[in-house]
Amino acid sequence: MFDTLSSRLDKVFTSLRGRGRLTDADIDATAREIRVALLEADVALPVVRSFVAAIKSRARGAEVGASLNPAQQVIKIVNEELVAILGGGTTTLRFAKTPPTVILLAGLQGTGKTTLAGKLGRWLKAQGHTPLLVAADLQRPNAVNQLQVVGARAGVEVFAPEPGNGVGDPVRVARDALAHARRQVFDVVVVDTAGRLGVDEELMRQAADIRDAVSPDEILFVLDAMIGQDAVATANAFADGVGFSGVVLTKLDGDARGGAALSVAQVTGRPIMFASTGEALDDFDVFHPERMASRILG
Ligand code: GDP
Repeated sequence: MFDTLSSRLDKVFTSLRGRGRLTDADIDATAREIRVALLEADVALPVVRSFVAAIKSRARGAEVGASLNPAQQVIKIVNEELVAILGGGTTTLRFAKTPPTVILLAGLQGTGKTTLAGKLGRWLKAQGHTPLLVAADLQRPNAVNQLQVVGARAGVEVFAPEPGNGVGDPVRVARDALAHARRQVFDVVVVDTAGRLGVDEELMRQAADIRDAVSPDEILFVLDAMIGQDAVATANAFADGVGFSGVVLTKLDGDARGGAALSVAQVTGRPIMFASTGEALDDFDVFHPERMASRILG
């Protein structure tokens, strides 16, 4: 991801190397090239606009000090603005004062929610928590089984509906899971919900019903970074339909142009909290805006 954006930006910076002071015309030309690079990477237009405006005004006001030449100065500004649109810093989960903390996962089908439940479970366990994963995705025939497999691999218990008891009713499964967590002293409950291939009202209502039944401390919107320009519309639909407190980006190891990753925090006003970079349980970490900015700038 970001290969094209990285090489485009690198060309912009290269053209500034060895230059003395930058004129306003140089800055405008540079800003235009950065704009094209971001648009080509599928970054959402409002994000591109505010990004380029910030670069321009900061580059104009920048004092070229003894330590930084104009190219380095522009790289520094672009880096800082990238970190800013990615959320500024890391945002950690809010844990409930009285356990269990409830985390609801929402997102389209195939984004990596079930995989994420396992990753999150394993990560929480490593932090000293006792997580419980809940199979409330009852739409996809194999989803419950898939979560059980992922949970076993992660070494984390899975709460799944008993045949004939709550089958087909994800709200009841989520509620029963919460009662189970209280009895068995699990301190974090991660609820996997059903996703569809496209945004649909029934899916939103179901996720909202589960939300109302378990009052989550965090709702994580799981976004496949490969979906490109659709990311913003999908994020907005979930913000309206279910609401969410944070974003998890998945498939950052893919070869998409990266615009989704670069737009979503700014467009939704919600922080990117975690990043998934592969199918293995270990391909997962807290999201670090500075690291992603450095990756883009090479
Ligand atoms: P769900 O439908 O949202 O529950 O999605 P799944 O967890 O079933 O994931 C769908 C597919 O994406 C599976 O084949 C996963 O192995 C794969 N997957 C999940 N996360 C990642 C990731 O970060 N990178 C890659 N390359 N594949 C992933």
